[in-house]
Amino acid sequence: MSKKLANYLFPDIKNRSYYDNTKKDSVKYTTRFAPSPTGYIHIGSLYTAFINYIFALINKGTFYIRIEDTDQKRKIKDGNDIILDTLQNFKLLNKKNFKKNYIQSNRTNIYKSYVKYLVEQDIAYPCFLTKDEIKKIKDKQIKNKEEIGIYGKYAKYRNLTFDEIKKNIDENKPFVIRLKANDKPKTIKIKDLVLGNLTFKENNQDIILLKEDLTPTYHLAHIIDDTLMGTTHVIRGDEWVSSLPIHFALYEALNFKPLNYAHISPLTKKVDNKIRKISKRKDIEANIEYFLKLGYPKQALFIYFATLINPDFENWYFQNYERPIHEFRFEFSKMPKGGTLFDIQKLNFISKFYISKLNKNTFFNEVSKYLKTYDKDFYNIFINNKEYSKNVLNIEREQKNPRKDIKCYSEIKNYYYYMYEGLFKEVSYEKNTNINISILKDFINNYNDHDDKETWYQKIKDICSKYNYANNIKEYNHNPEKYVGHIGDVFEYIRYAITKKKQTPDLYEILKILKKDKVKKRIMNFINNI
Ligand code: GLU
Repeated sequence: MSKKLANYLFPDIKNRSYYDNTKKDSVKYTTRFAPSPTGYIHIGSLYTAFINYIFALINKGTFYIRIEDTDQKRKIKDGNDIILDTLQNFKLLNKKNFKKNYIQSNRTNIYKSYVKYLVEQDIAYPCFLTKDEIKKIKDKQIKNKEEIGIYGKYAKYRNLTFDEIKKNIDENKPFVIRLKANDKPKTIKIKDLVLGNLTFKENNQDIILLKEDLTPTYHLAHIIDDTLMGTTHVIRGDEWVSSLPIHFALYEALNFKPLNYAHISPLTKKVDNKIRKISKRKDIEANIEYFLKLGYPKQALFIYFATLINPDFENWYFQNYERPIHEFRFEFSKMPKGGTLFDIQKLNFISKFYISKLNKNTFFNEVSKYLKTYDKDFYNIFINNKEYSKNVLNIEREQKNPRKDIKCYSEIKNYYYYMYEGLFKEVSYEKNTNINISILKDFINNYNDHDDKETWYQKIKDICSKYNYANNIKEYNHNPEKYVGHIGDVFEYIRYAITKKKQTPDLYEILKILKKDKVKKRIMNFINNI
């Protein structure tokens, strides 16, 4: 009867042996990222993707992408493209690691084939329970303080005859296909690579394998796909831990070898002294686009992720920042359990360090790419004179202690607007300043583009002497009554007239890039306007 039923339910579906033969060999370490196209990529999903990617890389294995789009209700328009674009942007997707055939909605016949087998073996059956009936069962179970679900005596369609089933189908009664579960569950032990040895009660629920539209549930698709695609390590969010007994029941039913599992804890944040998961609904930083828009370097995000995977990575990184991340030996056993605090301050710190180590050309290229997408106006100004912009970005960098003040590329425009005439003009000077005009005049009259830093500095000291400003601040602090001010004030006058800012990176370098003509024009303009 089972064979007859299997053929009746799935007349045109190939036998599983056909797909068994397509199974990829799982000798090589293989991981995957399997997002559902329910919207943008969550920061926690990118973190999961990165962990899968890095473990494959350090083990000289393979990492691939699978799109899990079988839940039609949660699917959104263009969902697949949004995900694939983001993964490509982060270089996690390439021509080799994703194929059309890795989209679950293109694989429905494969799932049906294995379910056909399960029906044949009498381990799966069509179930005609209506929503109403299921609700009644649940109410009863709550009242009797029994386990909720469809199992044992509640699985009333387990043993229909072929004719009864055919009659129901002829009458167009909707049905799902359920697993015929074990009614006498034992205790099982499962080893998780992060969480260690776990003990569960075996699955005793007749879980759904195919839904009413005959698309698979996550559980079924996960077991079939990961097995056929040669996954060796399933690294996924720990919300799936409690489903492990179901997954092991399916391995057994399908006669597949169980894979290795590593369940990772969610990214959390601290709000009002409470720690909670980063939530799509409440937190703007849940959307990865938030970081891309601000211009955080993608690599800096990965480096920060790496510090979350294994806390001892951080020390290694600061000593080996020139080496690729995957030279560090990441280990599952050193991963946090329970929750992983996502600390923006720490990300900022790492990002600043990372940017400070970029060489002139890479920094310029990264900033250009960012501006091209997110700030077209500034992009046009910025690339108008490439060498000039490279020099601007390189102020106080490519040296022993490079500046570590920029954490993301969106900061650059405000930071260096005064290096671009059009942007400089848009900002006004303050109305009342106590700037000594004669000092500015003396400064510009003596300024020479070719002075080395020492000569330049000496000229400022000479101005200090002439106008009775202390040429070092310590001296001024000892005898403030002796002086009008100190050398810091003189720098501030010049800096302010030229940049409209009180603080900037090294003034000498700024002036060298602007050149005397522009510097003079700005100073004269300042004097005339004040
Ligand atoms: N599509 C599942 C999710 O987005 C994937 C879980 C897994 O990695 O197996 O949660």
